[in-house]
Amino acid sequence: QIVYLNGAFLPLEDARVPVLDRGFIFGDGVYEVIPVYSRHPFRLAEHLQRLQHSLDGIRLANPHSDVEWRELIREMIARNEGEDQYLYLHITRGVAKRDHAFPKDTPPTVFMMSSPLLPAAQALREHGVAAITAPDNRWLRCDIKAISLLPNVLLRQLAVDAGAAETVMLRDGFLSEGAASNIFVVKDGVLLAPPKDHLMLPGITYDVVLELAAAHGIPSRVGPVAEDTLRSADEIWLTSSTREVQAITRLDGSAVGAGEPGPLFQKMDRFYQDYKATIMRQ
Ligand code: PMP
Repeated sequence: QIVYLNGAFLPLEDARVPVLDRGFIFGDGVYEVIPVYSRHPFRLAEHLQRLQHSLDGIRLANPHSDVEWRELIREMIARNEGEDQYLYLHITRGVAKRDHAFPKDTPPTVFMMSSPLLPAAQALREHGVAAITAPDNRWLRCDIKAISLLPNVLLRQLAVDAGAAETVMLRDGFLSEGAASNIFVVKDGVLLAPPKDHLMLPGITYDVVLELAAAHGIPSRVGPVAEDTLRSADEIWLTSSTREVQAITRLDGSAVGAGEPGPLFQKMDRFYQDYKATIMRQ
């Protein structure tokens, strides 16, 4: 496995970061995850735009222009195996004496790696996944894709401990998102999605799903989703770059709707797969 670190491509085993890296010391950095299908990065412009938003959010200069990122990403994909991959991009505020305040004239640490992107198991498509709910105890800048993921780690482990695949977070009685995904609700034939504000990550897959809904005449509404609506949903979906669209068929141990992936999910899953295929042919 070949990774990228600060200007060089090298084997993963040889990639080293000093312990005083602010990513290690403070979690002071941001990241991106970009799916790659048939060696084509998916929605690359949108991912690079969100990376810029995250960097702006932590006041860190972008180390590369979009043209440079595109070239690095092209090489990263070429140097790694697998038609389908996902790329992890990670930028920290660099290596400096431990002090909370920003260091001066310190180059950022830039890291990139590729992992195999495996299709969802058929059982998952047929039966969906279980999820639990938990209070959203994160900070108020969840729109920044920050590498400091301790709350998300703890929240996801709650799900694993309960034999579930994801934790769906509620803040002040409203749905925010999953520990590592966005959440949609279907109620009376309408697709409901929380708004892209500071309380959730603006998912790239989230945007694709809303675009596909509009393109195929599925009514949708973006706005606060109350806990009651979540709990009485006909369908619940999670979306993320690596998991695409998945049906949540059990929530806190109770069946969601009929307890199996619903009709709108079946449609959206097909639309999503078809959309991927058209992108790959371009
Ligand atoms: N919310 C959180 C907290 C996430 O970590 C992720 C991505 N893993 C998402 C939402 C989904 O975003 P995307 O569709 O861009 O992968």
